[in-house]
Amino acid sequence: MNWRGHTILGIIFGLPFISSPEQIFLALAGALYPDLDHDVKEDIVKRGLLVSGGIVFINILLYFFEKDIFNIDLFILGVSVLLIYLIPYFSEHRGLTHTLWSLLFVSFILGYLAYKLSAISAVFAGLISLLMVTNEILLGRVMIFAIFAWAILDILKLNPGIDGSFHYILPVATGYLSHLVGDTTTPAGVRVFHPISNYKLRKKEGYILVAVWIFMVVYVWKDIILNFIG
Ligand SMILES: [Zn+2]
Repeated sequence: MNWRGHTILGIIFGLPFISSPEQIFLALAGALYPDLDHDVKEDIVKRGLLVSGGIVFINILLYFFEKDIFNIDLFILGVSVLLIYLIPYFSEHRGLTHTLWSLLFVSFILGYLAYKLSAISAVFAGLISLLMVTNEILLGRVMIFAIFAWAILDILKLNPGIDGSFHYILPVATGYLSHLVGDTTTPAGVRVFHPISNYKLRKKEGYILVAVWIFMVVYVWKDIILNFIG
């Protein structure tokens, strides 16, 4: 599946968990991250490695020479972001990046990073996340879809009422899930349990992932649905 398919599917999967614009960018970041293992995306990964590696390196220097201003939180965050780029750097195509493990890890790290950055501005935090997994060309293309999703959001005024860090983590996770679902429709399938098991999920199993997503939607909206029925 190409970037356009993943972008549209990411928006569809993300929308039930979204109440504000920054979450659209996060869902798209989740939907686009797995294909960073493509050779053509090498520039994005190298840029990410350079920036996050720089943050880690500066923190190590601070630890040894300026212990007073060394910040353990910033150090952990830097290492986590470095890992986010090391996964696609070492992954074969549709290897580790297309697994449930990286879904959980990347959603948590990217979502948590956005949650922290939201102290500055929520939309800024979402944009940074999207910027982390795109280059100028891809960002421009994806942004057109994001603006339409923003309009839909404004018209529908959805609000599943998800607060705290999950406000940021859940859109990344559902966007990521949409990517795995999208790739089950391709002839190559996806090995979501790799390296523990190399079982390939194809279209049929893709429906199971869709069922998981429907279950998540119902769970998040249960109070609102019950209120509506009752
Ligand atoms: Zn893919």
